[in-house]
Amino acid sequence: MGTFRASMFFHAILFLNLATVSCATSPTGRKQLITQSDEQVNAMGVSAFDEMKQKISISKDMKLTAYVRCVADEITRVYPETQDWEVVVFESPEPNAFALPGGKIGIYTGMLKIMTDPGQLAAVIGHEVGHVWARHSSERLSEQGLVALAGAIPGLVFKDPNSKSYQLSMAALGVGTQLGYILPHSRTQETEADTIGLDLMSRAGFDPQQAVELWKNMAKLGGAQQPQFMSTHPSNSTRIEALQAKMGPALETYRKSNRRPNCRP
Ligand SMILES: [Zn+2]
Repeated sequence: MGTFRASMFFHAILFLNLATVSCATSPTGRKQLITQSDEQVNAMGVSAFDEMKQKISISKDMKLTAYVRCVADEITRVYPETQDWEVVVFESPEPNAFALPGGKIGIYTGMLKIMTDPGQLAAVIGHEVGHVWARHSSERLSEQGLVALAGAIPGLVFKDPNSKSYQLSMAALGVGTQLGYILPHSRTQETEADTIGLDLMSRAGFDPQQAVELWKNMAKLGGAQQPQFMSTHPSNSTRIEALQAKMGPALETYRKSNRRPNCRP
C-alpha cells in the first residue's frame, strides 16, 4: 500500500470513528464516552476468549466445573441484559478471574483455592460481569485510542499478536497480563463493578458479606508475588471500607431475595 493510499485508509477509519462516538450512561448513572458499537467490542471479547482457551489448559474436573457454572448461572440469571454466557474453568495456579464482552466468563483454579465460601465466587463473578455490564472494556479501548482500528475493521487487531495494538486491546479487555501488558482498572471502574457485583450477588441470594471476605483473602496474597488479578484489580482497605459502607442496602436486598442457591464445590 502506497503512502497516499495508506493515508486515505486511515482518514477513512478516523471518519468512521468520529461517526460512531456516543455518550452513554453507565448502570450507576455515570456519563461515559463510548466510541464503538457493542457488536464490535463483543466480537473482540469472543476472539480473546477463543485465544485464551487455546493457550491455557481447561480444567477436566467436572465436579469443580459444575460448581463454578452453578454459581455463574445464579449470577447471570439476575444479570439485567439478555446474554448467553459461556463459563470456563482454566487449570492454572494463578488466582485469576475475568469476564469478557460477548458473554464469556473465565475462572482459574488458583482463584478457587483462595475461596472459603461459594459467596466469594459469587462476589468475583458479580464483580467481573459488573465490568461487562458497565461497558468498561469499551471505555478502556476508547481511552487507548484503539477504537478506530478495532471499530472500523473488527478482528484486525487480532491478526498480529506481536503488534502493540493487539497487546493494548487485550489489556483493555482485562486479559493482557498473559502478554505482560497490564492495564489496571481505574478506581471509578473498580468501585462501579463492586457496587454492581454486590447488588447482583445479593439479588441472586448470596450473602453480600462474602464480598468483604473475598477481598480480605485477596489482600493476604499481596507481597512480592502479587497475582495478576491484583494488578488489574488494585485492592486495599479503601475497597473493603467502601464495600462495608454499601452493606446495609445489600443485606436488605439479600433478605428480600427468595433465592438461596445450593452450589457446592
Ligand atoms: Zn475489577
